[in-house]
Amino acid sequence: MAEVNWWTPERVERLTELWEGTDAAASQIGWILGCTKNAVIGKVQRLGLRARIIHTKPLPPPAPVIVFPTKGCLWADREPGDLDFAFCGKPVTKIGSPWCSDHRARVYVRSAPPKLKSAD
Ligand SMILES: [Zn+2]
Repeated sequence: MAEVNWWTPERVERLTELWEGTDAAASQIGWILGCTKNAVIGKVQRLGLRARIIHTKPLPPPAPVIVFPTKGCLWADREPGDLDFAFCGKPVTKIGSPWCSDHRARVYVRSAPPKLKSAD
């Protein structure tokens, strides 16, 4: 029994149209034609069709590396990544606090004293 070539002239023509005329991936073309991605790639190479340039999304810029100072207030008014990002750096006046007295006052807001029930 003679082996029948699966790649009929019609299939080759459709493959060429899809390969050169669309951005469809080899796997998508294979799905349309009813064969595998590897069959598409193999046939494209045998036909000598031009290589395709795959447009990939550019990678985002790397996240900025924040170096925490070993001394001084760690308050930052800007977002990491801003060009003028910096820590306050004023001396820390309370042991164990990451902030200077000004910024500690902004962080800790003293609540009103609880109201005492009046004994009627
Ligand atoms: Zn500060």
